[in-house]
Formats: sequence, structure tokens, C-alpha cells
Amino acid sequence: MKTDVLIIGAGGAGLCAALAAKEAGVDVKILTKEYPTRSQTCMAQGGMNAALANVSEDSIEAHIANTLKSAHGEADEEAVRYMCSEAPNAVAWLDSIGVCFSRTKDGKIAQRTLGGASAPRACYAQDYTGLKILHTLYDRCLQKDVEILNERFLLDLLQKEDGSVCGALILNIRTGEVEHHFAKSVILATGGYSRIYDKYSTNSTASTGDGIAAAKRADAKLLGMEFVQFHPTGLKNSSILISESARGEGGYLVNSKGERFTNELAPRDEVSRAINAEMQKGEEVFLDIRHLGEQFIDENLPQERKLAKLYENVDPVYDLVPIKAVAHYTMGGIEVDNKSQTSVNGLFACGECANHKVHGANRLGGNSLLEIVVFGREAGKSASNFTFCDDKSRSDYECKKSENFLNAVKEFTNEINFYEKRESVGELFYKKVGIVRRQRELLEAQKEIENLKELLPMMGVKDTKKIYNTNLTEFLEFRNMLDVCKAVINATLARDESCGAHYMEAE
Ligand SMILES: Cc1cc2nc3c(=O)[nH]c(=O)nc-3n(C[C@H](O)[C@H](O)[C@H](O)COP(=O)(O)OP(=O)(O)OC[C@H]3O[C@@H](n4cnc5c(N)ncnc54)[C@H](O)[C@@H]3O)c2cc1C
Repeated sequence: MKTDVLIIGAGGAGLCAALAAKEAGVDVKILTKEYPTRSQTCMAQGGMNAALANVSEDSIEAHIANTLKSAHGEADEEAVRYMCSEAPNAVAWLDSIGVCFSRTKDGKIAQRTLGGASAPRACYAQDYTGLKILHTLYDRCLQKDVEILNERFLLDLLQKEDGSVCGALILNIRTGEVEHHFAKSVILATGGYSRIYDKYSTNSTASTGDGIAAAKRADAKLLGMEFVQFHPTGLKNSSILISESARGEGGYLVNSKGERFTNELAPRDEVSRAINAEMQKGEEVFLDIRHLGEQFIDENLPQERKLAKLYENVDPVYDLVPIKAVAHYTMGGIEVDNKSQTSVNGLFACGECANHKVHGANRLGGNSLLEIVVFGREAGKSASNFTFCDDKSRSDYECKKSENFLNAVKEFTNEINFYEKRESVGELFYKKVGIVRRQRELLEAQKEIENLKELLPMMGVKDTKKIYNTNLTEFLEFRNMLDVCKAVINATLARDESCGAHYMEAE
């Protein structure tokens, strides 16, 4: 099985990369563990930033300044400048391929304010922005005959003797067979790692950091793993996200006494800490959008009303919505340069699994959808160019013997239930590697993760069937999560000073 550009992951970043590679005239293949329409990109609600100035004054310079301020000195100004300058083109391109953005009365793309932004800058499709973008990109890929193979799980990257990447070792979830997919270049677009916080996360269950763990095993450098963004408004019982657009449209945060206690539109790290501090005092915290009125809520925030009713049993038109801050977005990831090239030859990365140095220590709401479109397309172009530079014929590829973890798993004893351990890791991380961090607790968490890694051979899987063995894929994800947890704690311990979403408190 050979192709020019192999893409792992069919969220917004992977699909944008595929379309750009196809336009460059090379063979493209996408492999994904879920169907594209189940990828987390579909969950994005609030919008995508671009300084279009459609509803009030705005400028690309203001977008750059807001992004850099929120990043707390950890972003690369050139990369931020590039992303923000490309934003109007990125929205125009999405519009041209059929994304149905909401419109102003005079027919322009509508925009709303999200936290940390000095102007209404997020372009949106009601509160279904990611869903509309993903479905349009997927339609476009099908129309352009991009080959997409679903239910294929990345096990490891295939590497040549010199370490360069020449494909991927894949588990076909449908058949249980292991497949070797060779390529001239590989793009990882596998999403973030917020599910290491298990039920304290807004993310889809697929956000287990698989691509990051595989890249690390292939010796790729990671960057900024300590920076995990906590979103202020996860529903209290389920952690389901209530979009920042609810505050952007004028919603308040109040405590049990009905008092507002923070600037609702400050950057997410500040608002999350303010919520955390209220809760430490024994207060409950609520989102209040009742004053916006039923008609406005139904027109502009229909999904938020539905989610609150369904998962918290409250109707935001009449009730306060109980919330808590939960893990939402991971700024850290595989280090890439401005061509999306990782530190390993032939390996590219884009989207939430990559660190393009545009979010630094704290991402601005609306900048992730922007990033996956701008840098997703860049990654597709760069990986295609790489295939032209490669002067070796495909038959020259010889793969370094790849460790086949699957064989080892068959020998594991299954004395310990890894599902229980996965839950306990979520609790551990939320308490000890969470919104506020302390040195002693970080060291305790480090010890616990090391311990769990050693216990892996006593966990294993009960289900031995070959086809659709979700017990096996969930175990493989758990192993990746432990590798990612280790990288997060090591990066966290290496940074004494507070910075953005990484907030250290003295003992
Ligand atoms: C509830 C919610 C709301 C959000 N709202 C906004 C918003 O309004 N604005 C904004 O800018 N951002 C928002 N975000 C963030 C944004 O949606 C994500 O950062 C972005 O969509 C990530 O896109 P991606 O393509 O990198 O990854 P994903 O969309 O997560 O796609 C990852 C892909 O990789 C595949 N994959 C993973 N592991 C493997 C493996 N082992 N083998 C094969 N395939 C694999 C998955 O199946 C999937 O297809 C929101 C996030 C959430 C959770």
C-alpha cells in the first residue's frame, strides 16, 4: 500500500491538508480511527477568527496583538502574524467551497466577540461552526476523490534506517489485521490530548494524544506540553461545553449569591482561575443568559440551550446553568517549523496535535479553527513539495523493524482493570496537574504515572476477538495517554514560573 502523502486523522486539519495536497497534484490517502464526521472539529461551536471588520472596526494588527497578549510571550510573532494575515483568505476560501456562515442583515459574514478579543471577530454558523466546516470539507474531499480509509488506528510510524519516516503501521479495526502503509511523506493530524483528564474534559473520547505519543516514539520533539487550556464553562455534571459565545453574546458568570466575580470576556486562563477560586471558597458557579431572552437564544445559541436541557436538566431561558472549568484544548504538541515539518525527516504535523507556536501559553477562542485551516493547508503543500524533493524510488524504502506492541499485548495478564485506571488518571490530573499546580503534587502525579506504566503488562485486554475489538483500541489509547501524561508532567516540572494556563502556586 503506497501513496505520496499519507495523512493520519480526518478532522478539519487533516481534510484541509488533503485538499491542498490534492491541488498540488500528488496522490493522497487519509487514514482515521473514526469517521471524519465524528471528529472533534464537529464539536466546535463559537467561531473562527478573522479580522473582517464586518460588524465593527477591527484590524489584522489588533488580531495579532490580542493573540500575542494571550500567548504570554510563548508564541512566535512571525507565525502569529502569518496566521492572522491569512485569516480573511481562509474564511473567504471556506465561504467559496460552501460553508454556510451566519450573515448580517446586509449579507456579510456575521461576527461575534469571544474572550480576549478587542472586537467581534469570530465568524460563525449559529453555534454549529465546526460541524458546518467539517461537513463541507468532507464533501469537498469526496468530490475530489481523496482516498479516505475509516476505522484505521495508527499504531506507530514506519521509519527508515536513518530515522526518516516512510509510512505508518496501522491496525485495521474492522478486520483486526495490521497494515503497512508506505508514503513519501506523512502528516499527523490526530488532534489533542485533553482526554487525559477523562471526565473533566469537554473533548471527544478520541482526543487521547495517539499521534503525539507515536511521534515521540519516533523521536520527534514535543513542545509546550505543560500548556493545557481549561474552559470556564463546562456543564457541572457532564463537562459538556457551553460555548464562549454564550458570554460573547452577553452572558454573565455568577456565584451562589448571584454576584458577578470576574470579567467574563477576559482570556480563558484568567476566567477559569477566577471560577476555581470561587469554588475553593465553597461557592457554586453559574452561567446566566436569561436576560438575553428566548428569541435571541434560539436564533444565536440554539445548541447551548439544547445541551443545557439535555445534560444538566436546566433551560437557560429561565434557569441559571451550573458550570465548572474543565480541560478543553491542548496548546502543546509536536514541534513544527513554519512549513509544518517536525524534527523528523518526512514527518509533518498540523492541527491540535502540532505546536505551530501560535497559541503559546493560552489560546484565544476562535484561533484553533483558524489554525487548522491555515496551517492544515500549509502542511498539505509542504508535504507535497517534500515528495518532489525525494529522489529515491519507492522501492528503495527499507523499514526499520518496528516494535509490534500488539504482539506483546497478547501476553499481558489482565489482572488490573485499565478502565478504572483511566478514570483515576483523569481525577489525578484534574486535582494535581490542573488549573492551579503545586510542586509536591506534581511529583506525586509523576510517581503515579510511572507506576501505572510499569503495571501495563498486568492490564491488557479481556476481549480476544479480531473484528471491531474496541477493548483493544481503548487499551492502545490508554497506553498512549500514559506516554502523553508523562510528557505533560515532565514539561510542567521543568517550568517553575507561572505562565498563562500553567499556573504554579507556592506550597
Ligand atoms: C466542544 C468544543 C468546542 C470548540 N469550539 C471551538 C471554536 O468555537 N472555535 C475554535 O477555534 N476552536 C474550537 N474548539 C477547538 C477545535 O475544535 C479543535 O482544536 C480542532 O477542531 C482540532 O482539529 P484537528 O483536525 O486538529 O483534530 P480533530 O478534529 O480532533 O481530528 C483528529 C482526527 O484524528 C483521528 N485520530 C486520532 N487518533 C488516531 C489514531 N490513533 N489513528 C487514526 N486516526 C486517529 C480522529 O479520528 C480524527 O479524525 C472546540 C473544541 C471543543 C472540544
